[in-house]
Amino acid sequence: MPDLLSCVAEQPLVDHHCHGVLYRDADEATLESMLNEGAGWTGGSVFDSQAGFAFLRLCPPVLDLPPHAELGDYVARRAELGATEVSKRFLVAAGVSVLCVDTGFTPEPVTSPDELGDLAGATAYEIVRLERVAEDVAAAGVGAAGFADAVRSALATRTASAVGVKSIAAYRTGLDLRAGRPSDFEVAAAAGRWLAAAKSGPPRVADETLQRFLIWCGVDLRLPVQFHVGYGDSDVDLHRCNPLLLTPLLRAIQPTGVPVMLLHNYPYHREAGYLAQVFPQVYVDAGLATHNLGARAPALLAEALELAPYGKFLYSSDAFGLPELYYLGAALFRSALSEFLRNGLTEDLYTERAAVRLTRMICADNAKRAYQLASQM
Ligand SMILES: [Zn+2]
Repeated sequence: MPDLLSCVAEQPLVDHHCHGVLYRDADEATLESMLNEGAGWTGGSVFDSQAGFAFLRLCPPVLDLPPHAELGDYVARRAELGATEVSKRFLVAAGVSVLCVDTGFTPEPVTSPDELGDLAGATAYEIVRLERVAEDVAAAGVGAAGFADAVRSALATRTASAVGVKSIAAYRTGLDLRAGRPSDFEVAAAAGRWLAAAKSGPPRVADETLQRFLIWCGVDLRLPVQFHVGYGDSDVDLHRCNPLLLTPLLRAIQPTGVPVMLLHNYPYHREAGYLAQVFPQVYVDAGLATHNLGARAPALLAEALELAPYGKFLYSSDAFGLPELYYLGAALFRSALSEFLRNGLTEDLYTERAAVRLTRMICADNAKRAYQLASQM
């Protein structure tokens, strides 16, 4: 691997979208199940992939093993060090100064934002997942008529110290959402249908009117609204996760000036770049795909930055559970950005001074501006 540009190597990252890390040790089966969004399959290993080879090239040295260590040796060394030490090593090696942590996805216990920040030696902020708040309100037994008010007040409480909210409409209804803010009457009708249907199990909101209501609640709180876009696990209908489907809603949100953060985006990263160019408040990243594309991450970054203004592009790992993923995302992002900027320098597109400035913007300052973190740091 070529050396990184020194400005890229030394720049602390703001990871504006990640989740908590596992408390427990990860054995081979856990690594296989959490390396990517896939479900694994009989007779094969998910490590036979771009993400897998990047993992085994980059991660073993952080645990004092040679690159390309065998998975069995790697797992043994991991167990020897223990989960906390392993988490600390990878999170510190990621070189992050700020983490924005989505606390709404907890299929098993993971660290809180503060615990994650302590492991990383970074400042951690919370991003509140909108659907989770609505589902908690429903589970508490609120009726349809009081649903809108109860959600607004629960969200105000939950976001008191948060820096953003997140919508997973992509997972629930797809992104072909209408534009307007639904009236409380429409919300009550939709909530009534949803609560009646949800009587038999835990409530899971998946209704176009309610998704839109939640998004507008976030806008009204004037907090940046993150959207899951594109690539995800088999729960998403990927063809309904093209960010262009959000165009009417983005147009409606634009006059409020509230930032909209399009997460992941792959394989629609070019479409997302277009939206970042034409809508002043839209920001984009290529999180999750960075480590999943492994050696192809530079191609992804170059495509994402074809149209996206450099002042609208952010770093995120979208790491969940495995501490390796925070490091892998950061390391591959750094090498992709370094290659991108080095090409620009070689072609005399800009000066070294400009490369230093772009590095600072893309790695940290764009996120600090969009989430208004500067005053808090
Ligand atoms: Zn995520």
